[in-house]
Amino acid sequence: MRAFVAVDLPAEFEDEVAALARRLHACVEGRFLKRQTYHVTLAFLGEINEADARRAIDALERACALSAPVLLEPKGFERFGHRREGLLALALEADPGLVGLAENLRSGLRAQGVAYDEKRFSPHISLVRRARLEAPCLPDLPFPHACVAASATLYKSTLTPEGALYKPLYTVDLPV
Ligand code: ATP
Ligand code: MG
Repeated sequence: MRAFVAVDLPAEFEDEVAALARRLHACVEGRFLKRQTYHVTLAFLGEINEADARRAIDALERACALSAPVLLEPKGFERFGHRREGLLALALEADPGLVGLAENLRSGLRAQGVAYDEKRFSPHISLVRRARLEAPCLPDLPFPHACVAASATLYKSTLTPEGALYKPLYTVDLPV
């Protein structure tokens, strides 16, 4: 199965992110992601088997147990990939709790022998795929207020022509 580990968004924060995304419709074209899919990826595992999934759950449990409170604090819009047709995301500040959680999870995965994409952790919430916008078009919009995250989850991702479907496999509480 295709899998990744992500921090889940508290409901109120998710509301604010969805409100921000709605206001982008005025100046951005592309595939707007559904609010139920919003998340902050900590580690992308790709194809794993059942044994790897158990090891990943173990690494997730340990990382969350060690974690400081994880602050989700919007920083600004960020483009990934192709300049005119890439991903548009809401970038988050490098909060020490959030960065520490990603580092502890990743070192736990390494210790367990579970492979993951080792690109540098760059915390963000994906908003629009294949986003087309003219250069200086992003308006000054009110960003969501920072909040403390409550959980992290191992997800199974199934790719479909309409976008990926995520299924939570295992969720662990974070300290608040
Ligand atoms: P789609 O690929 O259909 O646009 P998606 O990217 O949301 O959907 P996945 O490709 O399964 O679904 O990715 C799940 C999560 O992992 C997303 O947050 C995605 O941005 C992130 N991700 C995917 N591939 C990588 C990668 N190689 N390295 C880091 N993160 C990745
Ligand atoms: Mg993808």
